[in-house]
Amino acid sequence: MFADRAKIYIRSGKGGDGHVSFRRELYVPNGGPDGGDGGRGGDVIFQVDEGLNTLTDYRHKRKYKAQDGEEGGKRRCHGKNGQDLILKVPAGTIIREVESGRVIADMSGDNTRQVILKGGRGGAGNQHFATSTMQVPKYAQPGQPAQELEVLLELKVIADVGLVGFPNVGKSTLLSRVTNARPKIANYHFTTLNPHLGVVDLADGEGFVMADIPGLIEGASQGIGLGHEFLRHIERTKVMIHMVDAASTEGRDPVADIYAINKELAAYKEEIAQRPQVIAANKIDAISSVQDEDDPIARLRAEFEPQGIPVYPISAVSGKGLKELLYAVKKLLDQMDPAPVIFEQEYFPETELLGENLPYTVTKSPEEEHVYLVEGPRIEKMLGYTNLDSEKGFVFFQKFLKDTGILKDLEEAGIQEGDTVRMYGLAFDYYR
Ligand code: GDP
Ligand code: MG
Repeated sequence: MFADRAKIYIRSGKGGDGHVSFRRELYVPNGGPDGGDGGRGGDVIFQVDEGLNTLTDYRHKRKYKAQDGEEGGKRRCHGKNGQDLILKVPAGTIIREVESGRVIADMSGDNTRQVILKGGRGGAGNQHFATSTMQVPKYAQPGQPAQELEVLLELKVIADVGLVGFPNVGKSTLLSRVTNARPKIANYHFTTLNPHLGVVDLADGEGFVMADIPGLIEGASQGIGLGHEFLRHIERTKVMIHMVDAASTEGRDPVADIYAINKELAAYKEEIAQRPQVIAANKIDAISSVQDEDDPIARLRAEFEPQGIPVYPISAVSGKGLKELLYAVKKLLDQMDPAPVIFEQEYFPETELLGENLPYTVTKSPEEEHVYLVEGPRIEKMLGYTNLDSEKGFVFFQKFLKDTGILKDLEEAGIQEGDTVRMYGLAFDYYR
């Protein structure tokens, strides 16, 4: 069994708290504050390991945590930083946020290392909080909290070629025939990854990945059935094989089928319908002798070859015509941009998770004009220890607002010069 997906829980390290302590020396009864800063929490980092080609390890262990930063110590001792956690994955691993499915990272191409969760900053020790009016600060900054997230790891296999067509035209038959014929295929770790994906291994050692995209039926572009799922798969393929039942064993008209499917593709994304396509006119073994004007192959050719879509008569069952089809597809692929498809980042843990972690909120007052409210236990603690009436105390307080990010949040909330900020019964005006 090959593991192609794994769901894991990751957590960065919490920042160590700042320490509160005071110098103690013989004959010096009241030494100054000397509480050290907390250490930084470890990051969670994903890194490509070329030696890996499955995600099996991640199916056995589910929880991964970076180390927390240590608390600061007496005598300005800096707490130890937490160790980063490096998670090794095969090239081509996609990391998604579980709930939304949005991409956090695509570990392919140049992206061989990415920090996914940042460790928390260490808190400042009370040594930093002495002012002329506040000589015994009993306050130290707590470390920033850890970030945690559940992520889905997926080994990305992008099919070069998508096989599309109505049900029962012979897609599965073709795929199983051209991808399982050679035992060599077992060397590709993704051969069995997905029953609808196979490696076509051509004689000269070259090959391509082909996907059977089932369920493409009329209405797929409106999301009928699993329509969008399938269309998403096609989206990343470079060449399309349209398969039709040329023998109309179930009474379908192959010409009408191709128009119907291209209409669905174009409704989903015009660009997809414009990609190179070939027609595989299947089940030629079942075509009973026909008059020239009834010959479905001739009809398909007359209709589509003028549009630049070549027609290959095949029999997936007998193997007739398959070689011509596959080499024609390979030739089309060779003319195309070989650059791998890279998934764009859609989810940014730092900004997404920030809101949950900061122990304060900044809001515009719902009742009063030009008034902003800041609430949170950390502020309360601060205000208990600082004398805001003194100039130094106020300068220190402003620095605190800046360091914690409250100031920035106020500005983002739209605060203007002269507006009022309220915190715990205290009000002051905002000036830059
Ligand atoms: P899919 O739904 O497109 O995946 O179609 P399948 O591969 O499951 O095939 C549907 C039916 O068509 C099966 O009964 C196959 O045996 C049959 N079939 C597939 N290819 C051929 C062919 O080349 N000739 C004939 N006569 N029957 C075929
Ligand atoms: Mg099938």
